[in-house]
Order: sequence, then structure tokens, then C-alpha cells
Amino acid sequence: MPSTRPAGLPGTIRHWIGGEATDSADGRTFDVSDPASNTVYAQASAGGPTDVDRAVAAAKATFPAWSGLSNRARATTLHHIADEVEACHEQLAQFESYDSGLPITQARGQARRAAENFRYFADVIVALGEEAFRQGEEQFSYVVRAPVGVAGLITPWNTPFMLESWKLAPALAAGCTLVLKPAEWTPLSAGLWPRILADAGLPAGVVNIVHGIGEEAGQALVDHPDVPLISFTGSTDTGRHIVRSSAQHLKSTSMELGGKSPAIVFADADLEAALDSVVFGVFSLNGERCTAGSRVLVEWPVYEEFTRRLAERAERVKVGPPSDPATEVGALVHPEHYARVLHYVETGIKEARLAAGGRRPDHLPEGNYLQPTVFADVSRDARIFQEEIFGPVVAIAPYDDEAQAVALANATQYGLAAYIWTSDLKRGHRIAHAVESGMVWINSHNVRDLRTPFGGVKSSGLGREGGAHSIDFYTESKIVHVALGEVHTPRFGAGDPA
Ligand code: NAD
Repeated sequence: MPSTRPAGLPGTIRHWIGGEATDSADGRTFDVSDPASNTVYAQASAGGPTDVDRAVAAAKATFPAWSGLSNRARATTLHHIADEVEACHEQLAQFESYDSGLPITQARGQARRAAENFRYFADVIVALGEEAFRQGEEQFSYVVRAPVGVAGLITPWNTPFMLESWKLAPALAAGCTLVLKPAEWTPLSAGLWPRILADAGLPAGVVNIVHGIGEEAGQALVDHPDVPLISFTGSTDTGRHIVRSSAQHLKSTSMELGGKSPAIVFADADLEAALDSVVFGVFSLNGERCTAGSRVLVEWPVYEEFTRRLAERAERVKVGPPSDPATEVGALVHPEHYARVLHYVETGIKEARLAAGGRRPDHLPEGNYLQPTVFADVSRDARIFQEEIFGPVVAIAPYDDEAQAVALANATQYGLAAYIWTSDLKRGHRIAHAVESGMVWINSHNVRDLRTPFGGVKSSGLGREGGAHSIDFYTESKIVHVALGEVHTPRFGAGDPA
């Protein structure tokens, strides 16, 4: 079923280089379609090395002026950007929902979060101090932070605008200029940045956007010798490839990658709250969420009941057109991704017990729709337990005790998030420390605090962004040592010539 077409949809989405909307040097474009009907509605410029080269040159040219501004001056521009983002929140929500298939009610939260990223990093950079160290009366050392230079930002298609803002805001706050390569399946909302940034007073060339296919435009950015830093959010395989390519120029990289996060439910938990949270955690954002609690581990005494109730809720989740305010799960982003998710559903039917969903809803004969799907009694070596599906599909498994819960939680290559449900807080902390993941929530779903480190361990990523971690990433620290008194220096070559 088609989604309502938003007003003002552009027929073309072009690069933005040096403050100008431009076509690719070779004129190539790629199709952009909406996931509710899979109809092509726009053409986007398909960038390659020549376009990336021009964008990097524009960013390099503006770097001295932008990095030379005071932190306060850059922060003021960031606040203006936040104002502009908020002012177009309804258009942004409609574009995001139409292009990515996110339910409109969930797309509406994205503008607020994107604006908040700019306001937060504006505050961080103004409040930032630099460290100083005193060694008695003899020496004093202080740290000078300098922006790294031209940052390369590469982003995925899930919540694209918000994730772009998550990288743009700290990079700009730190004083970097940059080239952004948005995901090719969802370029529409990135097409709003040029007007937002220009109206906010950001000088031309500070932000440049090159659209295109990952292996072409993204790879050219990763390979560019004048881009010393790559911030990447996307799949683990692509992340590995980018780290390998970045080694050529020894670039700094931040990798926010895939996940298969466990939600661990103990029998003593508030089961109503746990159920609401588990259902929301894996089916919101169409299940296309890096921190989704896509493996639910349940203690035996409540396993059957929890599984039954989770399956009932999944069957009742409203799947529908992304533009319908009643929709809870919309259309998956692209037919290729939809086919991949359906393949996992077929695999799951062979590997485990299908407890809910597993099929296209009858009332939605076309578009990338799937009824939220629950697999029960999933074994730890099943593919649906081990591999990231990135759709509205959840795997449930029982456990006997705390040790087994931790062993199961840690039994995949991933380590992004974990959710623990228990009324025994001592146990909650014990497990939080034992689980191999970058982030843990106890008795809560994914509620973020922008000051906290964000990222994963094992195959879920490298490095942390968020709060001061982001500023560390986009700056180089230089230490300056200053002698305050006499420095004792062994006098080589000053001895008796005989
Ligand atoms: P993807 O890896 O296919 O693509 C991500 C981006 O990388 C796109 O812009 C793509 O064009 C680009 N790209 C692809 N090949 C490239 C190459 N060779 N060189 C440079 N760039 C290249 O990922 P996706 O399918 O768009 O996104 C889904 C994945 O992102 C999931 O695995 C999800 O878990 C992960 N994700 C992680 C986080 C996190 O914070 N950890 C957040 C959101 C999404």
C-alpha cells in the first residue's frame, strides 16, 4: 500500500560542493525509490573520485577560516542550525518516512534529536577546557587541541538524517570541515542540509555532500589522501573493509557497526515493563535499529508465558503505510534488504519454532512489509541467533541461571548493547559488568544521554563517540612542555678534551 507522497518532493537530488548544488562530473545518477511501493520517484547524483576530489578541495580551502573561529562563534552557528532543523521538522519527518519507510510518528522524533545533537555539541565546545599538568616547580605542560582537518563522514540508511547530525555536529563543533557521503538508499533527507546549513549562516564549503554508491563515492572518500579521519556507521563487513583501506594513509577511524543485542529477562523482573520494552526495542524503527534487542533470553520459570505474550503482541502490531499515524511498523527500506530479511525468516522456520508473523500482512499486497516475527526455542548456534537481521524479527531462547544467561548473551561476535530486566539490582550490576557490550541498560530500553560514550566492542565497532569522546575523535591533542626552572642536562661532549 503506497505512502502519501509529501509535498515538495524533488525530482533530482544533487551533490553540494563549495556551497553549490552540482551534478556528477560524468553526469551519472542513480534511482531513488520509496519502500512502500518501490517506485522510483527521483534521481540522485552518483558521485565518484572526481566529485569527491572537488568536495575535499572545497573543505580544505575553508578549513583555516572555520577552524580559526572561536569556539563560541562556531557554537552560535550550531545553535542556528538546530533552529533551522526544528523549523522544518514536519517536512523532514515526511521526507524521512517516505524515503526510508519509517512510520511517520517515529520519524517525527528524528528532527528533535537531530537539533538536540547540534545544541549539545555547541554547549560542549564552549564549556571545553584544556588540560594542564605541573611537575613541581620545574616544568609545566599543557594540551592544545586542534581539529584534525577534513573529516570524511559515511552514514547508513536507518534514521539517516539523525545519524548524519550525530556526526556533523561534533565535527563542526571541533572545527573540522567535512565531506558527508549519505547512504544511497535514503538520500532524500540529506538533500535538506544545503538549505538548512546555508540559512543558518554556515560558510560555503565547510560542509560538502557527495551522494553515490558506497563502493564508488564512499571508497573515494576513504582513499583520499587529504582526508585524515573517517567516521563510519554501517555494517560490520563494510567497516572491516574501510579500516583495511584506511591503513594505507593511517587514518583515524571511528566504527559504529552492527549488533545482535541481548535482552535478558529474569523471572523476578517487572514482566509488564519488560514486555513493553522488549516489543518496542526490537520492532520500533521497523527493527532496523543497530541497538535492537533482537535476542531475548528468558529465565525458564517465565519463559513459556513471556514467549506467548510476546508472540501475541507481535501479531497485534499495526503494520501499514509509513504515512499513516496508526502505523507501528512501516515498510523495510529497500527490496534487496526486504529479500534478505525474508531469507532469514525462511532460515528461522527451519531452525526454530515460529511463534508469530513470518509473512507479509494480507492487507499489504505490495511494498516491503513484514508482520513482526517471533522465533522461539532458538539454539545458540542458529543463524537467526548469531547474525544481524536488521528487521522486525526476534529470536527467543530460555536459560537456567545467571551464568547461562551471561554465556548466551556473549555467544555472538557482536557487542553493541544489552538490556537486563531484574528486580535484584545487585544481580543487574553483576551482569552489566559481565556482558560483553559497549552499552548496557538495566530495567530500561534504549534511552540515550548525549554525554555518555556510544559504541560497541568485538565486531560492533571501534572507538567511542558521544560527549567528550566525539571531540577527542575530531581533534588531535598536542602536548606543550615548558621549563619553569633550571633544567638539568647531562653535558655530553663538554668534558676534558684530553
Ligand atoms: P552499509 O555498510 O551497507 O553502508 C553504510 C554506508 O557505507 C553507506 O553510505 C554506504 O554507501 C557506504 N559504503 C558501502 N561500501 C563502502 C565502501 N567500500 N567504502 C566506503 N563506504 C562504503 O550499512 P547499511 O546497510 O547502510 O546500514 C545498516 C548497518 O548499519 C547495520 O549493520 C547496522 O547495525 C549498522 N548501524 C550501526 C549503528 C551504530 O551506531 N553502531 C547505527 C546505525 C546502523
